[in-house]
Amino acid sequence: MSREKLTKIILPEERMPRFWYNVQADMPTPLSPALHPETKQPLGPEDLAPLFPMGLIAQEVSTERFLEIPPEVRELYKLWRPSPLYRAHGLEKALDTQCRIYYKYEGVSPVGSHKLNSALPQVYYNKMEGITRLTTETGAGQWGTALALACKLFGLECMVYMVRVSFDQKPYRRMIMNVYGANCVSSPSTLTESGRQALAKDPDTPGTLAIAISEAVEDAMQRADTHYSLGSVLNHVCVHQSIIGQEVKLQMEMVDDYPDIVIGCCGGGSNFAGIAFPFIPDKLAGKKVRLVGVEPSACPTMTRGVFAYDFGDVAGFTPMLKMCTLGHDFTPAGIHAGGLRYHGESPLVSQLYQDGLIEATSVMQKGVFEAAMLFSRAEGIVPAPESSHAIRVAIDEALKAKEEGIIKSIVLNLSGHGQMDLTAYDNYLSGQMEDYAPTDEEIQASLKTLPTL
Ligand SMILES: *Cc1c(COP(=O)(O)O)cnc(C)c1O
Repeated sequence: MSREKLTKIILPEERMPRFWYNVQADMPTPLSPALHPETKQPLGPEDLAPLFPMGLIAQEVSTERFLEIPPEVRELYKLWRPSPLYRAHGLEKALDTQCRIYYKYEGVSPVGSHKLNSALPQVYYNKMEGITRLTTETGAGQWGTALALACKLFGLECMVYMVRVSFDQKPYRRMIMNVYGANCVSSPSTLTESGRQALAKDPDTPGTLAIAISEAVEDAMQRADTHYSLGSVLNHVCVHQSIIGQEVKLQMEMVDDYPDIVIGCCGGGSNFAGIAFPFIPDKLAGKKVRLVGVEPSACPTMTRGVFAYDFGDVAGFTPMLKMCTLGHDFTPAGIHAGGLRYHGESPLVSQLYQDGLIEATSVMQKGVFEAAMLFSRAEGIVPAPESSHAIRVAIDEALKAKEEGIIKSIVLNLSGHGQMDLTAYDNYLSGQMEDYAPTDEEIQASLKTLPTL
């Protein structure tokens, strides 16, 4: 097949990967252990058992390179997988670049994002253990939507605590969760002690993922039939998302190409991990591939945070994880990329960043939407604001290469579509969007809340 002509690179269904890739097998520096929030001692599997099924706990700590995808999950993956890899001919033309730009499109999943890659196996392993109800939090609403559908497909109940700013900005997200049969409430809510405390502290809070996580964990801890589910950050989520990058490698082979740069946006880090981690073994073997994570300037976890033990939530219920963090009390500005408003970053991504195997950069929201507009008009797909962070950097890399007179092969993860985010586009088009970045003083103040060991 000619590399130049092909627009949509489709992997045949029978070539869909049968195993997830686990980067823990290949890390030069092993992960620091998760610590118990009270004793501050390394966690054992029994500490996680009230919240997670053993199937997922085993994946969380596994150092095996390949983990089998259960046949039941593989069958459901086939609803949309393998997902297409597109050559962005339209965008290349608009940029007048010789670079080859590709995007892996995860927006073809029934819920419109990569999140279903992990929601399905998470619900599957819970069901295997007899759990009948799951709680979770959601920022922009994509994770809640994915878990709602996965729960419905496997016959479990689903309870979603949705960050207030998104609950108010994105009513369609709540509605679609309701369509899939989930219960969705605005967080902070009055249903939990953590929610009531957050409201007492600031009745007008826009909410944060850290507060919503406290609510979902508190709810799950109180019922024996209920577990908690997290859509990013944890190792098992990164494992599940690895199907993205494994498919990309096969698809690039089909057009006889190999990326110079792989780009993904970073909220908790799972879609970036998904597309980037399968390239780590190549990189360790000497290939010159750059893996670039992109975060919003409003929530610059890797580029301006510290690498330290912190809680995943505001109330300190979750284990302490060693990760890049802005402090669990950090309240990011209410930017439109709600899925990227998290104070921490996956410990796997954070450790690989410390070890120099991946890079991080941050971008401002107006530049992100400028890139999203260009992409929409050149490629036809309206990207999610989160994914548009990756598009911004792909465009910048292509323009830089043009200036330097070199040709690069650039792959980005288009983690989801933006058809539920049109209010944000409207905001941009009417000139009402603003750029945000926290001051050093704000970050320092929030870092004061880091737990002491
Ligand atoms: C949730 C979400 C993100 C951010 O989460 P990660 O775990 O960092 O991937 C990015 N893009 C989309 C479309 C999302 O739904």
